[in-house]
Amino acid sequence: MSRFWSPIVHALSPYVAGEQPRIDNLVKLNTNECPYPPSPAALTAIREAASDALRLYPDPTALELRQAIAADLGLTAEAVFVGNGSDEVLAHAFVALLKQEAPLLYPDISYSFYPTYCRLFEIGAETVSLDAAMRICLEDYDRPCGAIILPNPNAPTGIALPLEAIRQLLLRHADKPVIIDEAYVDFGAESATALIAEHPNLLVIQTFSKSRALAGLRVGFAVGQPHLIEALERVKDSFNSYPLDRLALAGATAAWKDRHWFETHRDLIVASRARLTEALETLGFEVLPSSANFVFARHSARTGADLAAALRARAVLVRHFAKPRIADYLRISIGTQAECDRLVGALTEILAQD
Ligand code: PMP
Repeated sequence: MSRFWSPIVHALSPYVAGEQPRIDNLVKLNTNECPYPPSPAALTAIREAASDALRLYPDPTALELRQAIAADLGLTAEAVFVGNGSDEVLAHAFVALLKQEAPLLYPDISYSFYPTYCRLFEIGAETVSLDAAMRICLEDYDRPCGAIILPNPNAPTGIALPLEAIRQLLLRHADKPVIIDEAYVDFGAESATALIAEHPNLLVIQTFSKSRALAGLRVGFAVGQPHLIEALERVKDSFNSYPLDRLALAGATAAWKDRHWFETHRDLIVASRARLTEALETLGFEVLPSSANFVFARHSARTGADLAAALRARAVLVRHFAKPRIADYLRISIGTQAECDRLVGALTEILAQD
C-alpha cells in the first residue's frame, strides 16, 4: 500500500463526456452539437473582439450579455447569471442552492453530471424513477426532499413536460429550490422562464451550446429571482473568477441578438427531427417523442451496443449508454440532412445483415 496521501477526489468516478475523435469523414451525432455553423454575426463579433483589447480584463459583471438575455425575457439583468457553459452554471447552482438537509431529488434516467456533482460536493440525493413510458412523473416528487432538479426536455429521452405541470410542482414545493435544466428547451418545449416572476423558488438554466451552435465558446446562463442569482454570484466570487472572457462575451451577445439565425436553424433541426423519426420508424425502431435536438430510439432485433459499434465501423458516431433500462437505446443527435441520410443508409445496411 502506498504511504503517500491520496486526494479524496481520486475515489470519485468523474463524468464521462461524449467522444470528440478525429476520424476522416465522420458523421458525428454523439454529443448533441448543432450541425450548422454559428450565426455569422457572432463570428464577426468574436473576430472583432480578438484585438488589442485582449490585454484588458473582461467586464466582471457581463452586463451587456445579461441585459440582452433579460430584455427578451421581460426581466432585468439582476435576474440573469452567466458562466462558462451550463455545466459551470450547474456546478455553482449545486453548491449554492442544492445542498440541503433533506435529499435532492432528480430522475434516475437523466443528465449524468448530476450524480457527479452530488458526489463531488457531498450533496445527499435520491433518484426518482421514470414511468413505464420513460416519462418524468412529477407526482412522484411529492415526498420529503430538500430540492429538486430536472432537465426539460429530459436527457437522454428528449421527452418534455408541459409548463402547467412544472407550475404545479413549483407550488407544491414552494419552500425549496427547484431547478429546471433547459439545455434543449428551444427545440420544442415550453420554457419555465415564463414562471420566474411568480415563483421565487425557481431557477432555470440554459445554454448557448445547442440552439445557438456555440458549444466551443462555453456559455451558459441561469435565470431566477435576484436572491437566487445573488447566491450563485457568491459562489462564483469565491473562486475569484470572471464569468466569461472577452471573446465569449462578444460572441454570445451577438448570437443572442441574432433572432433570425436562431429561429431559422431551430426550425431546420425540428424539421430534420421529424424526417429522421419517420425514417427510423420505417426501419423498425421505436422512437421516443422528442422535443430536443436528438432522438432516443431502440430496435427490437439488435442491442444498442451492437448498433453503436456497427455504426462506428461505418464512421457514424452516436451515443450509447451502458446503463440499466436504457442499454437498448441509441441517442442520436439531429445532423444536417446529409448526415441523417448517411446514418439511415448505414442502419439500413446493418439491419439487412440480420
Ligand atoms: N444540461 C444537459 C441536460 C445537457 O445535456 C448538457 C450537455 N451535455 C448540459 C447541461 C451542459 O451543456 P453546456 O455545458 O455545453 O452548456
